[in-house]
Amino acid sequence: MIIYLSDLSHTGQGRNPNHVPLASGYLACAAKEAFLDLDITIFRDPHLFLQAIKIQKPDIVGFSVYTWSECLSSFMADKVKKTYPDVITVAGGPSVDDIDEEITHFIKTFPYYDVVVPNEGEVGFNHLIGHVRTHNRLILDDTITGCVRLASDGSLLRGEYIRPDLDKLPSPYLEGWMAPFLKDGYLPILQTMRGCPYSCTYCCSGSKQWSKLRAFDLDRVKAEFDYIRENQKSIEGYLFLTDENLGVLKERDVKLAQYIRDSYDKRNYPAMIDTYTDKRVTEYTKKINDILRPIKFYNMSFQTLNEDARKAVKRININHDDIPEFLEWVKEKKISSTTEMIFGFPNETLESYISGLEWLQKNGFDKVHSYELRLLRGSDLFTIQNREKYNIKTKYRLGDRSFGVYDKVVVADVEEVAISANTYNLHDYIKVRKYGFFFFLVNTKQYFSGLTEMMLKIGVPGEKLITYLANYNYGNKLMLNTIVKEYGKRVQEELFESLEECTESIAKRLHEGEQVPAGKMNLIFLGKVVFNQQALKELTEVIKEFIYDCSNDRREHDLFDDYIDNVLLKQIVDFSKPQEYVVSTQTRVDVEAIKKNKYDSVDGLLGKSKVSCQLLLHDQARRIQERKKLIDINDEVEVQEFFLLSPSRWLKRILV
Ligand code: SF4
Repeated sequence: MIIYLSDLSHTGQGRNPNHVPLASGYLACAAKEAFLDLDITIFRDPHLFLQAIKIQKPDIVGFSVYTWSECLSSFMADKVKKTYPDVITVAGGPSVDDIDEEITHFIKTFPYYDVVVPNEGEVGFNHLIGHVRTHNRLILDDTITGCVRLASDGSLLRGEYIRPDLDKLPSPYLEGWMAPFLKDGYLPILQTMRGCPYSCTYCCSGSKQWSKLRAFDLDRVKAEFDYIRENQKSIEGYLFLTDENLGVLKERDVKLAQYIRDSYDKRNYPAMIDTYTDKRVTEYTKKINDILRPIKFYNMSFQTLNEDARKAVKRININHDDIPEFLEWVKEKKISSTTEMIFGFPNETLESYISGLEWLQKNGFDKVHSYELRLLRGSDLFTIQNREKYNIKTKYRLGDRSFGVYDKVVVADVEEVAISANTYNLHDYIKVRKYGFFFFLVNTKQYFSGLTEMMLKIGVPGEKLITYLANYNYGNKLMLNTIVKEYGKRVQEELFESLEECTESIAKRLHEGEQVPAGKMNLIFLGKVVFNQQALKELTEVIKEFIYDCSNDRREHDLFDDYIDNVLLKQIVDFSKPQEYVVSTQTRVDVEAIKKNKYDSVDGLLGKSKVSCQLLLHDQARRIQERKKLIDINDEVEVQEFFLLSPSRWLKRILV
């Protein structure tokens, strides 16, 4: 029996996603374990998949469907069915919900799948294989364990769900399934456990069936980690852990963290690790983050600080009153802290969202990510019931590099973003986007976060800077005015009424030989500011105006003027000439005191006369220098790619 497993990445602008197809790896392992004679191939590249179905007819084609591959997988399932109507097509993955109405909706939206497998797919997929091996086809109205499909009367035919036993599930890495993908430069992703005990309604992992926590054997996980270290080809040394709450398995997770840290110390791998730790601060999460300090931020995601919004999406956050103590602890340990916020939950307002972001800055998170709410198929918030309950209205925009041309047809997977709900409207959404751009520039990408930190310590309300920048009238700032206006225009232009309209606009651009805009607009406009000396100069003029508006103290003006002109702007690279990574400057500001965080007033920072000192370039500026010859920084897609590749995160402190 020939089985194709399609876990596809778009290829229109690089590869998206660019990590190994681990989910299909698990399916392949489990199927091979149960049926030795199967001929299984995993596909990540849609072009290779198209070639394969032209050459050889499979018996079953399985699709792992995620938000980034819903349309792509459906397009390929349609191709399969048109080529071989009797081949059995099956879909699983996070986009397939567990609720009957949503499954029915999925099957109607994507009619080219014969069967869907909700939840963890290994058992259901094996039962489907067994069924087809026995009968050579799908038997009408026969229930298959773990599988769902339409019965002859149009009702849902649903087999019992059985979770796979993780102790019996072979490893996709150790069995060699991921080897060709690692060799081809896909990034490794490691699953050490399954399940999340929380039930956030905007997330596909909030489902009841995923709430049970189960761990893979630690020795096996260590062996997989070693395998990845020896076989991965990423220069950057990234490792993604799929754990959604590292630390929730207590000492077991601490041991895993220590194993990874030992590898970092002795073998220099991984250089960076991306994972989420438990939402509660426990002795275990603290230990883990302390152990992984050089290669991981402590990410304490909130998503909202509005209690009504938090309750509406069933989010559990750390107790508000415990946050200062947590931040004190991370600072004492010199651990970089980060958090995430999402605009668009029911009950959130423009004001509550921005005041939440200001609170986080004021209270000392090193970095805050601000996102817009997307409705993800497979999550509770996606359901018609919740849309109606909260009056959620959405539009569609191109996702990050989520399109491609396959057999001459343009296929795109677009994001469905919430643009209004019971407590906010489109106008608020657009305002948040503009605020979010300045937030990204100042805080998330950390170009001015050191400056706002200084302001806050000295008593200037640095957390208000972004609101000031977002509301500023740029009429007298020629370059910035153009950039800000263009940003506002693009925010509106990127929204479409339907998925089809969005896809058509991409197809039109491609047919007319135009470049499809990169998906990450904030990255592109960040480039438009920081790669442009005039824009940068105008921006710092506005920042100085903010400081003058907030403070009547002449010495504070002198301090910040000097800091901006002689420290900050020296570290954000000037592209007009080659730069050393270490730059010399003359300043009255005591950069050593900033570096050691030993000051609390202007007096502790501003000397009487200028002294010479040396500074490191801002980490991203340094990366730009390293890669400058390789990219054309006027090209928006390249700008996006550049920033996406830039591993800035642990190079936070920029003073020598
Ligand atoms: S957002 Fe995080 S904590 Fe909430 S359900 Fe999803 S994975 Fe779990």
